[in-house]
Amino acid sequence: MKAIRVHAFGGPEVLRLEEVPEPKPAAGQVVVRIGAAGVNPVDSYIRTGTYARKPALPYTPGTDGAGTVAAVGPEVTRFAVGDRVYLTGSLSGTYAEQSLCEAQTLVPLPANVTFAQGAAIHVPYGTAYQSLYRHARVRAGETVLVHGASGGVGIAAVQIARAAGLRVIGTAGSERGRKLVAAEGAHEVVDHTAPDHFEKVLALTGGRGCDVILEMLANVNLARDLTILATRGRVVVVGSRGPVEILPREAMMRDAAILGMTLWNATPGDLVTIHAALVAGLENRTLRPVVGQDIPLAQAPRAHAAVMEPGAYGKIVLIP
Ligand code: NAP
Repeated sequence: MKAIRVHAFGGPEVLRLEEVPEPKPAAGQVVVRIGAAGVNPVDSYIRTGTYARKPALPYTPGTDGAGTVAAVGPEVTRFAVGDRVYLTGSLSGTYAEQSLCEAQTLVPLPANVTFAQGAAIHVPYGTAYQSLYRHARVRAGETVLVHGASGGVGIAAVQIARAAGLRVIGTAGSERGRKLVAAEGAHEVVDHTAPDHFEKVLALTGGRGCDVILEMLANVNLARDLTILATRGRVVVVGSRGPVEILPREAMMRDAAILGMTLWNATPGDLVTIHAALVAGLENRTLRPVVGQDIPLAQAPRAHAAVMEPGAYGKIVLIP
């Protein structure tokens, strides 16, 4: 079968399409024929070799994907060949025609969800759900700013927050992205490239501030996020690409909380809750993953370059 292999850490060019042996499932394992693989920013951080998680070389990237069960190992009772599934992890990587998985990391894919959408679920929607519910503990009626709403996590957060009865303010850097954020449910949309956008968000709350901010680029925004929080507001740091200086007094004055999060820390119990909720939302179409670009597997370097560029529009997926 064909798979993307990384033999040395580096730029997008180290992603090479190669012929590799088909995986064989051991006890408790399943082989999935990948219909689409999700491209997450973390895949590109890992590829550079500078991220906290450093796989042994060579490796196949990717944790997200969706497809059909191709083979099941002994002791697997929940899945049969031909079942449609999405992945919440992979033993062998998802940038491939087939992926070896632990059976417990697979979730049945609702019939109304395409493989490309299925590849957009786990990291983006799982992160958005965990940030809103476990970390920020949102309540209906609160106001949330999704700071960076046009990408994979942001669109998921807008849809989940809207369904949960929050007032949703989203941001995007491009006109196309802002239209998408509005179409997916944000009550108000602002441009995060405009220097006065913090003032605009504050004005949209009548000067009261946001109860919750989901922050996709904390190194750029965290200091000013603290100035547009309501009393007892919470900032969840979802993404950050460098250091930042803050004035702690801005947090003190508001009894505010800065909450770091990573989906890797979700417990098995959290993941059961997350995916039960996500499947319910997918089935009733409250949650509608937006696939902005589907790129052939062989062009994985192009996908990794694109995921780090501005102008996000939903999710980028690879098609084997
Ligand atoms: P993505 O699809 O590439 O989207 C990136 C988002 O960041 C876009 O909405 C982009 O908007 C926005 N952005 C760019 N400049 C911004 C600015 N100055 N202020 C606010 N937002 C800005 O990535 P993603 O999958 O949604 O992930 C978003 C971030 O969260 C990444 O840094 C990723 O590594 C991180 N993440 C963390 C976890 C975790 O477990 N903590 C999980 C998933 C993702 P425009 O392109 O419209 O400018």
